[in-house]
Amino acid sequence: MRALVVEDDARIADMVSAALTAAGFRAETVADGETAWFQGGTEDYDLVILDLGLPRLDGLTLLKRWRAEGRAFPILVLSARGTWSERVEGIEAGADDYLPKPFMIEEMTARARALIRRAGGQAQPVHRMGALAIDLNRMTVQRDGLPVAMTPLEFRLLSYLLLNRDRIVAPSELVDHLYGTEDGREANAIEAIITRLRRKLGAAAIQTRRGFGYTLGGDP
Ligand code: CA
Repeated sequence: MRALVVEDDARIADMVSAALTAAGFRAETVADGETAWFQGGTEDYDLVILDLGLPRLDGLTLLKRWRAEGRAFPILVLSARGTWSERVEGIEAGADDYLPKPFMIEEMTARARALIRRAGGQAQPVHRMGALAIDLNRMTVQRDGLPVAMTPLEFRLLSYLLLNRDRIVAPSELVDHLYGTEDGREANAIEAIITRLRRKLGAAAIQTRRGFGYTLGGDP
């Protein structure tokens, strides 16, 4: 899961980014509205955390522009301006959730996770698939009731397939969401993670559609 944190207060940006990283996201931080506009328009994020008071381009304008351009990523708005009228304005402009400052970091993480689940059509944090139980909150997997040891990368790949299980996911998209484009890694790194996941979860857990990509196998 890739998250963009748009916040000009470095202390809050660091705190949010650390919490998201601990929750299994790959977090990138930008400190002004124009850079955010560029990043959000060219890169594909699973979640955006957006402060409203930003230099160069304010958060509300940014939000409206993204939605007008058809950018559909879930957006959690953070703002010191907690009055009801601004809250309504933010939500009408296309925010998915709104958290007034100051906030508890645990609440931010819980709301971020809930947004990701809703965006992926998973209202429940634990998803069962045959012998597998995948817990998106605790970042754990059980097979036949027994815990399966997973690396963060393996879990991120598995949860991305889970949240996009209605379609085939191309290897290049997985590279983008797991490593980011600046990393320069190749799709064969993905192949290696898929092989390890099949060994741990069963060969049928992930299906390959040759030439297209991957999809989760088996019905719950
Ligand atoms: Ca600010």
